[in-house]
Amino acid sequence: MSEKSYISIRNGTIASVIAGVILLAVPALRGYAASFLGWIWVGVVWFWEALIASYSLPGWAWLGIFVLALVGLINIYLAVRGEAEKPEYKSYIEDFIHGAKWRWSWVGNTITNVWCYCPRCDATLVYDDSSCRSLYSDVNKTDFICENCGHSVVATITGGNKNYATGAIKREIDRRIRTGGYRKH
Ligand SMILES: [Zn+2]
Repeated sequence: MSEKSYISIRNGTIASVIAGVILLAVPALRGYAASFLGWIWVGVVWFWEALIASYSLPGWAWLGIFVLALVGLINIYLAVRGEAEKPEYKSYIEDFIHGAKWRWSWVGNTITNVWCYCPRCDATLVYDDSSCRSLYSDVNKTDFICENCGHSVVATITGGNKNYATGAIKREIDRRIRTGGYRKH
């Protein structure tokens, strides 16, 4: 073995060990690297075959190629499906609930930024849950008021303060998704 080829083999070995350590340290990369290396390996084998113009690969090598190709295909399929598969309810972002128009956004599977708007003029409603802090009030409720429509009370949610009301709306949204009722709107 010449000095030159010894050096290139040594460098290749060092690079492989470093790449292996990096892949071990970053678990998320491992899956992608495995499928990528699988495809590279398949390509190398095909190239080798074309070079020697021979179809005398042993059975186990074909089995190996088949398994690697299958792993690569499954990985690509899963990656593509993960992109495309957005649950239908993620496009459900507004509805009329308890007399007001509610809008929200999705972060993962969680409802966030839920708030209500006037069904007549679409103004942002303001809340009044002072009854929850009053000693003289025997009902806990939150009123939602439209300043644009003469300070009229558009919606009232009984049972608690503003946080309770938005929680109740989130529960109602969840219920409509579970029962499929949201599709009728
Ligand atoms: Zn209004």
